[in-house]
Amino acid sequence: TQFSDLGLAAPLLRALDDAGYSTPTPIQAQAIPIVLEGRDLLGIAQTGTGKTAAFSLPILHRLNEKGGRPPRGGCRTLVLSPTRELCSQIADNVRAYGAHLGLSVAVVFGGVPHGPQRRALSQGIDILVATPGRLQDHLDAGVARLDRVEVLVLDEADQMLDKGFLPAIRRLVKAVPAQRQTLFFSATMPTEIGRLAAEMLRDPARVEV
Ligand code: AMP
Repeated sequence: TQFSDLGLAAPLLRALDDAGYSTPTPIQAQAIPIVLEGRDLLGIAQTGTGKTAAFSLPILHRLNEKGGRPPRGGCRTLVLSPTRELCSQIADNVRAYGAHLGLSVAVVFGGVPHGPQRRALSQGIDILVATPGRLQDHLDAGVARLDRVEVLVLDEADQMLDKGFLPAIRRLVKAVPAQRQTLFFSATMPTEIGRLAAEMLRDPARVEV
């Protein structure tokens, strides 16, 4: 399989070419067609498998295809990830893959002032990458709204639970529409993670690499 066989839009193929990627990794080859169809996904994969592109590319494709604008104070895709470093990496990747599309990307994490994040949120964002704790602060302060989220991604769910983010995740998920696409990634699948996945996903396709 080549990226060009997966049905991705030309601007995405161009960005992949810029990055020097020609062949999808196993999780990319399996997950991209499922996400393009709009299905929920349970991905059991470690960092280093290419899972960021596996969810980012089809999400970018669908946002680009649907058109439309994000709501002020809100986002159309929400990616939750456990650490500032992972959030920054994901956002950098999304920006690179989306370089030839006019979509907005922002990052929200703790340990830095609220002001710039508030201003970014107020614009409306196509793809928001956030740690659960700081995003919950913005939600509670009435700065962020999640009622227009179309796609929700949980990345490294097991690490987020280890960091005590489960209550924040539950609060955030309640603020997201039930009618959405959900992509749930974890390196491991202990009972607690399996239960959270079952609560959040609807008829998911399961991909394990
Ligand atoms: P990830 O598992 O998403 O953290 O990705 C691991 C690394 O592989 C990152 O540095 C990516 O830039 C790189 N990568 C992702 N997809 C591909 C691909 N299809 N070909 C070559 N490198 C890739």
